[in-house]
Amino acid sequence: MESMEKIVSLCKRRGFIFPSSEIYGGLNGAWDYGPLGVELKRNLKQAWWDDMVAHHDETATPQGAPQSFGMVGLDSALLMNPKVWEASGHVGGFSDPMVDDRETRARYRADQLAVYALEFIGSDGKLERYDEVLFAAPGEVGKSTPVELFEPHRKRIASLQKGKPGKEARPVAVPGALQDEGLRAKVLAPGASAPGTLTAPRAFNLMFKTHVGALEDNQSVTYLRPETAQGIFVNFKNVTDTSRVRVPFGIGQIGKAFRNEINPRNFTFRSREFEQMEIEFFCRAGEAEQWYQYWRERRYRWYLDLGMKQENLHLREHEASELAHYAAGCADVEYDFPFGRSELEGIANRTDFDLRQHMQMSGKDLRYFDDQEPNEDARRFLPHVIEPSAGADRGTLAFLCDAYSEDTVGGEARTVLKLHPRLAPIKAAVFPLVKKDGMPEKALEIYRTLKKHFNVYYDEKGAIGRRYRRQDEAGTPFCITVDGDTLTAGSVTVRERDSCEQTRVGVAELAAVLGERLGT
Ligand code: ATP
Repeated sequence: MESMEKIVSLCKRRGFIFPSSEIYGGLNGAWDYGPLGVELKRNLKQAWWDDMVAHHDETATPQGAPQSFGMVGLDSALLMNPKVWEASGHVGGFSDPMVDDRETRARYRADQLAVYALEFIGSDGKLERYDEVLFAAPGEVGKSTPVELFEPHRKRIASLQKGKPGKEARPVAVPGALQDEGLRAKVLAPGASAPGTLTAPRAFNLMFKTHVGALEDNQSVTYLRPETAQGIFVNFKNVTDTSRVRVPFGIGQIGKAFRNEINPRNFTFRSREFEQMEIEFFCRAGEAEQWYQYWRERRYRWYLDLGMKQENLHLREHEASELAHYAAGCADVEYDFPFGRSELEGIANRTDFDLRQHMQMSGKDLRYFDDQEPNEDARRFLPHVIEPSAGADRGTLAFLCDAYSEDTVGGEARTVLKLHPRLAPIKAAVFPLVKKDGMPEKALEIYRTLKKHFNVYYDEKGAIGRRYRRQDEAGTPFCITVDGDTLTAGSVTVRERDSCEQTRVGVAELAAVLGERLGT
């Protein structure tokens, strides 16, 4: 697994991702996608849209699905009536309790700062617990993640161990320590010099508030949406009234979402502005479990089909204690990032919670009417919802991490992004071998022909080896070189990125061969 520093450095060096407003010192939690990054992220979103919505065949039953179903798209506004967020529970409950460290000024989500006491294992195998000082370390509370102990922690432990030769220390979780005033006073925070510097957990609403119109009063408050999902729910009736979809069916949407995250970190992984790719799939209550199983599997497989390595991808079913009060099931697609295993996408069985809430708050009947249902009592019902909710930025980052590799070709080290051809920002680069003998003219002619079909790139500068390596770093699947034979025999060399294998292809067949090898 490559280090995050290498990925971040490649992204900056090659124009994938830059810090937002960098010339002014940046803005924490916001990122800009450069010329290569924008293509990569657009390709990911396009693949999602094509596979989930545009190319979905509603007349056939997809593999593993209980029956055929329709899929349509939506693009709802970012700004919505604030009642939407009251109904969804975001105004009241969308807050992560947080704690501040008064000494280091660091801010943590209370559920992501685990607190430990120490146990010493004696030579007789008996345990002795030391809890005069407790140790706080980032890690999900309640999960057995490895504890990262910091320098002040280590010093304390070393001094404790002095009087206890041969004894080994191991951390044991102290649940609820941050909520208990007495225990909190004993907690040594990461980087703090003494215990007792953490504040009590406080609620912190993650929605960005804004005002609509000229007056900045309470009447004009609304929010930047923290998820795209609610835009789908509030349009449920519009969609069923105006399109021919019938339950079961899904509505897909891609768009920006904003969350004032307490602690944005891990590059683009946790940002304050990000993009989501969400589906709300509407079905009958009795069939929700089958559809939940179907979407979990399908969404997991989607990443594999785009070339993600299976050993890095996991599908984790939530424990009952992790579920939201209304959810009947939830699974995360997780990826082994260099900074640890983390969520790429969540697939949840949300029951009829959202539609019910909006029906109550708006006073509008959002029930679905099935005119083909023979049983009259079952004709009108509120559908249940399966929600596969993915992050486009997290997906892009995961594919970058997964594709990054270093190898040696012809005795020279190279960095190569082994991106799936559908995701690769540039599909092929066209080079004249040398900048003379009519080769640039011929190469430009080929470039212009191919450019009508694919995103191709022309480069005539520098040694051919260096040009190959620049494209390897950008993840370009093919390099096409025009040489002396092109002018006499009408063929070019096509070099494949991962194997570096070169084949000769006739110029007349080039677009077709490339299309086939790219799978487009
Ligand atoms: P987390 O627990 O990591 O905060 P979440 O469970 O709150 O995430 P959801 O509300 O389920 O996330 O959002 C669905 C998807 O949106 C996530 O799987 C993720 O890919 C993306 N996402 C959520 N928050 C962020 C963020 N701050 N930055 C980037 N992507 C995000």
